[in-house]
Amino acid sequence: MRPFVYREACAHQISGWVLNAADGVHIEAAGRDDNLHAFIQALSAHAPAAARIEHIETHIVDAGEERDASAALYQGDHGTHEEEVTGAHPHAHVGSTQQPRRASTSEQDSPASSMPPRVNKGFTIRESEDAGAHTTLVSPDIAICNDCLKELFDPNDRRYHYPFITCTNCGPRFTIIRALPYDRLKTSMEDFDLCPVCAAEYTNPADRRFHAQPDACFVCGPHLSWREARGHSPAPAIGDTRLASDAIIDRAADLIAKGSIIAIKGLGGFHLACNAASTRAVHTLRTRKHRGDKPLAIMVQDLAAASQLAEINTLEQGLLTGTVRPIVLLKRKQVTCSSPRENAELSHGDASEHVRIAQPHYAREGSRLTNASEHTLIPASSAQKKSHTHGCTTQRDPIQISPEVAGTLPELGIMLPYTPLQYLLMEACAARGITALVMTSGNRSGDPIEIDDTSAWRNLVEGGLADALLGFNRQILTRFDDSVLRVVAGRALPIRRSRGYAPTPLPLPTYTACPSSTQAQQPDRAKTQCAGHALEQQPDRAKTQCAGHAQAQCAELHPHQPAHLCTHAAEQRPQPTSSLLATGSEQKATFALTRDTNCFLSQHIGDIDQGSTLNTWHETRLHMERLFDIAPTALACDLHPAYLTSRWARATAAERHLPLIEVQHHHAHIASVLAEARASGDEDASRQVLGIAFDGTGAGTDGTVWGGEMLIADFTGFSRAARLSPWKLLGGAGAILDPKKCAWSLLTCVNLLEHPGAERLRSAFTDKETRILQHMYEHNINSPLTSSMGRLLDGLSAILGICVKASYEGQPAIELEAAAWRSGKVAQTMSQRDQVRYQLEFRELTNSDLPQPVYEDAHGSQQESSPAARSCQRGNAPTWELNPTPLLAAALDDIAVKRPPEEIALCIHQAIIQGTVHAARCIAQATSLTTCALSGGVFMNRILLAGIADGLKSQGLHVLIPQQIPVNDGCIAYGQAAVAHAHLASPQ
Ligand SMILES: [Zn+2]
Ligand SMILES: [Zn+2]
Repeated sequence: MRPFVYREACAHQISGWVLNAADGVHIEAAGRDDNLHAFIQALSAHAPAAARIEHIETHIVDAGEERDASAALYQGDHGTHEEEVTGAHPHAHVGSTQQPRRASTSEQDSPASSMPPRVNKGFTIRESEDAGAHTTLVSPDIAICNDCLKELFDPNDRRYHYPFITCTNCGPRFTIIRALPYDRLKTSMEDFDLCPVCAAEYTNPADRRFHAQPDACFVCGPHLSWREARGHSPAPAIGDTRLASDAIIDRAADLIAKGSIIAIKGLGGFHLACNAASTRAVHTLRTRKHRGDKPLAIMVQDLAAASQLAEINTLEQGLLTGTVRPIVLLKRKQVTCSSPRENAELSHGDASEHVRIAQPHYAREGSRLTNASEHTLIPASSAQKKSHTHGCTTQRDPIQISPEVAGTLPELGIMLPYTPLQYLLMEACAARGITALVMTSGNRSGDPIEIDDTSAWRNLVEGGLADALLGFNRQILTRFDDSVLRVVAGRALPIRRSRGYAPTPLPLPTYTACPSSTQAQQPDRAKTQCAGHALEQQPDRAKTQCAGHAQAQCAELHPHQPAHLCTHAAEQRPQPTSSLLATGSEQKATFALTRDTNCFLSQHIGDIDQGSTLNTWHETRLHMERLFDIAPTALACDLHPAYLTSRWARATAAERHLPLIEVQHHHAHIASVLAEARASGDEDASRQVLGIAFDGTGAGTDGTVWGGEMLIADFTGFSRAARLSPWKLLGGAGAILDPKKCAWSLLTCVNLLEHPGAERLRSAFTDKETRILQHMYEHNINSPLTSSMGRLLDGLSAILGICVKASYEGQPAIELEAAAWRSGKVAQTMSQRDQVRYQLEFRELTNSDLPQPVYEDAHGSQQESSPAARSCQRGNAPTWELNPTPLLAAALDDIAVKRPPEEIALCIHQAIIQGTVHAARCIAQATSLTTCALSGGVFMNRILLAGIADGLKSQGLHVLIPQQIPVNDGCIAYGQAAVAHAHLASPQ
């Protein structure tokens, strides 16, 4: 921010200074009225692309104050807004708490003498005075900017083709930071001494690279490295000159053209890349990575290329080309299963025969590559010229994508290059006729994404996934997968919040006492929905944790712990805590660290179901705790008995005598939506809402598996208003990948297994399998009760024969949605006849409807209910139920008469929309609630999300949908943090 302010000040003849402070950028400016006015306007109007200016406050500094303005900064005197700017010195405070340019707060290590002391009647860049206070926020990584891109492809620029070109407006940030304040010596750039030319840029306030910490060039900076598998290839190479670097990139493109898979280092980790047009290459990648059917993301050179493949609206364009460059899920223009190119490939069986359209070339001169006899060698400069021409031509070959990339799904995940290296590689590939690369996370199945060259060589190349490794010697210090977004109804909704977004803090609402109306409405609530009321409900635990510890002993035992937490002052009721750790969910895991009302939600970590991912989770957590100087004084976790992170939280809370708040999974879902909405000023989110949480699975307080829940919720608690009728889920968690088992259970529970429409399903099991299933069903063996909407959709998908075997969670439901889209009638309303037949029946429950749930604990032994449930059961039964039996019967009737499955799939979606909206309206009327909050993985389904949201709005209900966090389990940690924050702040 400071170089930018400096330049604007010079342009407007302003004198004064600028500095970074903990709460934003402070500027003192003196000049003519009109200049001052224009200067202040320019601050937001011309701010760098990646800057986010939240607000600008100005006030007049008098002459006395002026002399010691920096002292005045810390007297909290910048809170007034004055539009009128006079000849005196307005003191501007640019509030920019999430503003990446804050990153350059580290002037204390650079000699002050390097600043021109008084340029242009004296505007100076002052040293950051708060550099030691770790409150400074860190910018996420930023895609290469247009200025750097221009230089990258300018043969006259000294950084021409330099794969690590960067400036203060772009490049790596969070992924290279070891400690704060953000300064070169505290990043992985510490290994590289600036050459004199770079050093001059770095210290010149007027230069675009002033204090650009990752700045470098071919002379001084990081360089590419290249190594191929199996020893019959060119020796390892280092790209320490332009020619050597170009040769590496050309060699990588050559191998990709031959159908090879290359491990390529990016900003937050390695990718595995191959030619997206080559069925053989993509199939090989899938096989090697054990990737199953899960769609793969692709990278294309530019927006024009992306537009060939997908329909792209303005918002999507902005996402694709913006500073983050996430993967954007886009509506495919046309799914061609077989193109002429594919036919040629399949018949010849050799991808390299036809995908290598341009003459392969790379420069040998000056490079360390050898053994290139099979290639035509032409000078790098002419190679570049040729590829550049190719890249700019308007007569491009139509882009081909193998059906192996994303099957026939209606969406395609597309991203544009965001590092200089990726631009160079795409350019080199384009010269060989390759217009799209599959770019998938570089990791072995189940492992975290690789970030280290040595480890990536071992696991990806020696492990047999990749044929070569394109790395470099700038370390990645924190793992970041690519973020994934999708635009629904004009809003960008995150699906995976990672690179470019995390860990930008999300706000937590400032919490005041529970509204008394809440208590009056639900007298039992506080006692019953107490997943979160751990402290209140478990006074014994709190006492045993600390019993016998005199205050002095406590201080000795836990020196870093505030006394009030350790001594359990105020009768086991801690004061509002300033920092807590929420451990998140098991699937799509994230964690959250809070400080005051800032919630640092971590990047997507993956599924924490094994030791290696748990280690990554701990690594990431410790890195963030260190970086932001947060020592959690309370913990929050999911109340699931077996989640690895929940078990760690319980053990840690006991060991360190920290308060632990266990939060029910779907309550966390809804709380995450409320927290985001309320922090952004939506007052309706501060009252109770009707939370609609539809997802795969989450532990319920009654020991059953929840997932089709309508909760009356606020931050501190919830009651279960309605649920999907529970059924026994044979195989438990195993049914996630075995939807036909899910379907069998479902139809058995509603007595429809013998329906003629279920013939195909029945015949999918052998007699022996059927007998085993029946035995399991009758004896409740591994068959927990579930009310999961996700599993209902999975089962329906299998009943329709759309997906009977899944290779990833949610695949059956995703393919059911894809089938509904294929019907081509998503925008139409259901026929009257279908409306009557396809129904989710909404009814009030009686006591006899509520069978005793069966709970299976972490050791597999059966109990009546979970330990959490035993403390939560009173008054916690749902009042209403959504019964899918009519819907199932209608689907089976239609299958029996051979109605197209696409039409049935659409009717199923429409019935769920209508049933949910009807239920919500009835509950809202009965409870006087006016706001609904939607969350849960099922809302990744675009038909259901848009349909239910629109339906609720048409009933006059206010609808909250998360904007900055995913609806899937990536939001759970944030929701847990919001619930725990409210509990710890609650005076009750
Ligand atoms: Zn740049
Ligand atoms: Zn240099």
